[in-house]
Amino acid sequence: MQLYDHINGLGRDLKQRFGEKVHKLSINAGFTCPNRDGTLGRGGCTFCNNASFNAHSRQAPSIREQLESAKPDMRAKRYLAYFQAYTNTYAETEALRQQYEQALAVADMVGLCVGTRPDCVPDATLDLLTGYKDAGYEVWLELGLQTAFDTTLDRINRGHDFAAYVDAVNRAHARGLKVCTHLIVGLPGEAPEDSLVTLERVLEHGCEGLKLHPLHIVKGSIMARQWKKGEIDAISQDDYVRVAADMIRHTPWEVVYHRVTATARKPTLLAPEWCENRWPAFNAIAGELVEKGGQGSALKSAASNC
Ligand code: SF4
Repeated sequence: MQLYDHINGLGRDLKQRFGEKVHKLSINAGFTCPNRDGTLGRGGCTFCNNASFNAHSRQAPSIREQLESAKPDMRAKRYLAYFQAYTNTYAETEALRQQYEQALAVADMVGLCVGTRPDCVPDATLDLLTGYKDAGYEVWLELGLQTAFDTTLDRINRGHDFAAYVDAVNRAHARGLKVCTHLIVGLPGEAPEDSLVTLERVLEHGCEGLKLHPLHIVKGSIMARQWKKGEIDAISQDDYVRVAADMIRHTPWEVVYHRVTATARKPTLLAPEWCENRWPAFNAIAGELVEKGGQGSALKSAASNC
């Protein structure tokens, strides 16, 4: 079953535009996080143990070394450098320029994906990224929003509200930058279906890409303690698949899906266990889309009912 026949995935989007496979290579550029060091908050988001997101240690090799060593594993001939770990805009503009340009200087690199928080993208940073976009590079600003509900953002100690996300999106769009919004399904205090409301609010303000992620409860996070005490539950695979597929059906075709589920490994992953293996959820989402309609199909049926 081919999921990517039913969604507008990033691989397909890049292949259409570049004429060949383009692969994203994850790097850890050694950034820290303002929600951990007291600048914007302390303790970090309650789901976060950043070591679980990236295989590289904080004493990682240089950006060039990381990118060069990841390349031979890939079948692609062109690459995007994905600044993934921690908050990849959390530095002065000149320091950011040096980091991003180290990546762009690596052979066959066609652009950047920069993961960050909505409240950590000052105009100077957006202007820097806009310069790369205007020079012909592929540039994605990846904003971690997770949910559009301020009560949940507060509960998980994100340290920003939905308005901060809207402000960042508006300033990015005013410069023509593409935004990929990260959302988590199954956050504490939310029913899985609440993610559909989040999606609606995100689409209302516009985005070019989406990344969906089931809530992972990982070792070393605040949520790990809450889960062990029975204060929070992990989302089931059935609930995740149903809601993720529904979100995809309610997303216009032109929005590019960068990811529709995510895995983590034990012993870092505590729950849900099904998140150890990507394929059952991936295939089940594909099955739902085949049966009920692919990306954007719920929007079409809504329109024809009016
Ligand atoms: S998820 Fe991102 S913003 Fe939140 S604590 Fe972790 S690194 Fe910081």
